[in-house]
Parts: sequence; C-alpha cells; structure tokens
Amino acid sequence: MTRESTVRIGLVLPDVMGTYGDGGNAVVLRQRLRMRGYDAEIVEIPLTEPVPNSLDLYTLGGAEDSAQRLATRHLQRYPGLQEAAGRGAPVLAICAAIQVLGHWYETSSGERVDGVGLFDVTTSPQDKRAIGEVATQPLVPGLSQPLTGFENHRGGTKLGGDAKPLARVTKGVGNGVGDGLEGVMQGSVLGTYMHGPALARNPELADYLLGRALGVDSLAPLELPEVEQLRRERLRA
Ligand code: GLN
Repeated sequence: MTRESTVRIGLVLPDVMGTYGDGGNAVVLRQRLRMRGYDAEIVEIPLTEPVPNSLDLYTLGGAEDSAQRLATRHLQRYPGLQEAAGRGAPVLAICAAIQVLGHWYETSSGERVDGVGLFDVTTSPQDKRAIGEVATQPLVPGLSQPLTGFENHRGGTKLGGDAKPLARVTKGVGNGVGDGLEGVMQGSVLGTYMHGPALARNPELADYLLGRALGVDSLAPLELPEVEQLRRERLRA
C-alpha cells in the first residue's frame, strides 16, 4: 500500500451492530491514518448491501441478540468479509461480533445460531451478565500496553485450538468462561469484548491493525496528549 492510494476501512453493518459507539473504531483508524499523511475513508456496509471483499480492513461492533442474528445471516449470505480475511485483511470484531464470527453461539433464550466460522470459538450464555470496566495485559507479540474497555455481555466464549487469546484479564470478566482470558486472535482477525470504543482507549491496538493493513512492522508514533490522558484516567479507574 502506498501513501498515494486511499486506505478503505469497512464499517460492517453499523445499522445492526454498533452498541456503545463501536463505530468510533473506524473513525479512530481513519484519523490515525490521516494524521500520518495517508488518504483514508470509511465505507459503511448496511444490511441492504452485499459485503465487499476488496477493502483494506474491517470493523464490526457489538449488538443485541436479535440484531446479531440478522447480521449473522447477512454475513453468511454475502461472504465478502470471510474472503477478505482469507487473503489476510485485518478485521476487528467487538463483543457480539466475536460470537457471530465463531462456529456457533447460543442466545440468552437458549437458541443456537450457526456463525460464520472465522474464529475457532463457541459462545453460550452464562448465569451472570458481565458488566463493567475490564483491564487486561496483552498476550500477542507486538502489543505491550495494558488494554482497557467497557464490557456488557451475557455470552461466555470458549476458545478452540486454532484461536489464541488476545489478553489476560487483570480486572473484570473478559471471555467469561473462567479461564481468565480476553478476546481472540486468529490469522488477521482480532476480537475483543471491549467497548469504549476500544481503539480510542487503546491506540497501540489501533496502530497494530493499521500496521497489518499497510504491511509495515511499525508506524511512527503520534503525539496525542489528550489520548494519553484518557488512558491514564481509565487505568486509574
Ligand atoms: N448479545 C451478546 C451478549 O449478551 C453481545 C452483547 C454486546 O455486543 N454488547 O453476549
């Protein structure tokens, strides 16, 4: 990818997936690219359109159970996201999107829904809803800063052998099946239960995804004191 070409960020199904301002993740990615002199744009993919496979990176937000089911059906019908992930395009999946991209998930009412199969994970409702701040230490090479976010989910996600955890929980619940893990990494697809939006609170994670989209090992740091201040406040909380 050269600085002359436009980096295209897919905001997948914002009309059904995007609780707690998760669409902000795409805005953060676009802004961090523009600040470094790249041309960047957000491509919104609503439920009325097929999912293109040609974008440079993709983000999906969280959702309520019924909206999540609509999104699952759409992604199965138009497999552009799966094709893009197959060629290594980075994908960020928040909360319900982890569940949708797994093999299957069970809703709070006990209905089992087949997922998209990009993650080797399954999700079942837990007795207690996980709500509140979550803080973690990343387990993925290339990430060293603590990750923070806000979680609100009833589903608990179990990782299979092909799925690696994103981080170890230091506060809060995370994946919610008692293994102390948070999030999932598989190939170029990364999932986390952290809302926030996650990339506004965790700039290192934003740059990790951008580095993969641009095909570079590291990006020049950005001096953004207000982002650092937000991080300090959140870590203190
Ligand atoms: N409906 C899912 C659950 O409760 C996901 C919720 C969310 O995305 N915030 O587990």
